[in-house]
Amino acid sequence: MSDQPNRVTCHECGAGMDRDIRPMAITYKGHTLTVQQPGWYCACGEGVLTAEDSAATQIDFRHLLGVQDTTRQHEDGYSDKHA
Ligand SMILES: [Zn+2]
Repeated sequence: MSDQPNRVTCHECGAGMDRDIRPMAITYKGHTLTVQQPGWYCACGEGVLTAEDSAATQIDFRHLLGVQDTTRQHEDGYSDKHA
């Protein structure tokens, strides 16, 4: 049993999308970090992230942010509400 679809159709061009891992730049509180983002990607440039994909990147992102800014390492302040 898996809720991961075998194939995702691109909502832009209708082509089949493939699993891939691509670098994605994220800006957060003045930091710009590049994470390796797994997801479904289309040849036309569209990308679709599942909840699982997003969760994987958030863990990676928080780790990177903690390395860059040690003053925040004890603060569970990922949410923008803390901005
Ligand atoms: Zn497409």
